[in-house]
Amino acid sequence: MKKLDLSKTVIISDFDGTLTKKIINWKFVPSLISILREEGVLDKDYSKRAKALFEKYHPIEKDPNISDEDKFKAMERWWKEHYELLKEKGLELQHIKKAVEHPNIQFKEGVKELFEIVLQKRIPLIIFSSSWLGDVSIKMTIERFKLPFDDSVIKIISNKLLFDENWKFVGVEKIIHAMNKRLVDVLKWNEEIQKLIEWKDSYFLMGDSLNDIKMAEWMSFENGIKIWFFMEDKGYQNIRQIWEKNYDIIIPQEENSITKVLEILNE
Ligand SMILES: [Mg+2]
Repeated sequence: MKKLDLSKTVIISDFDGTLTKKIINWKFVPSLISILREEGVLDKDYSKRAKALFEKYHPIEKDPNISDEDKFKAMERWWKEHYELLKEKGLELQHIKKAVEHPNIQFKEGVKELFEIVLQKRIPLIIFSSSWLGDVSIKMTIERFKLPFDDSVIKIISNKLLFDENWKFVGVEKIIHAMNKRLVDVLKWNEEIQKLIEWKDSYFLMGDSLNDIKMAEWMSFENGIKIWFFMEDKGYQNIRQIWEKNYDIIIPQEENSITKVLEILNE
């Protein structure tokens, strides 16, 4: 196992399914947005149309045989179409709050300790998410579980939802979708992140989907450890082999825990 100098390391982590649990009571819990879709927070027509979008685009997102270029275009369309739908259906801040408070939203074991460690050792933690519900939903989840937080160390990069004076959703500042969720792109417009990682030469990446590895793509880090939270996918028998090649450590989602990550950080 490579050894990272933590004083020069930045942690880059996905949110849904990486920091949050993906399996609760032996059932698959996809993500915050799926609660809007599955639990009737908005109307039935929303659920139907959001599901149709999911069924159209999700197979493209997870197919290892589709080119990055085609995936990029498809993801851009999916995010735009879904945001249009959310606007049409009158998404409000209180709907997001409902999703965040759902019992199926839970952090994995060890996430609170991770926050404590990064704050204590001042290791930058970048939480990177392409969630439609954006940074506001992540902040609310962190507040719900009372995790220690300091935005000079922990940064959330996700879609910035815009609301009107009645907290009705009106649009999004800049769309981060599954394929442009890359630090190299964020550095072009985010000076805070530039400063935060200026002197860092290694990264520690955590993700649970095929595209999460892109978060550190094209960056000039010398060292890195990539962790993948793995789940079988019946559609792709060879997926484990493909990703074992790309990731250094594989943790089964069933463990619902990031304690292995803490062990590495505490070594
Ligand atoms: Mg994820």
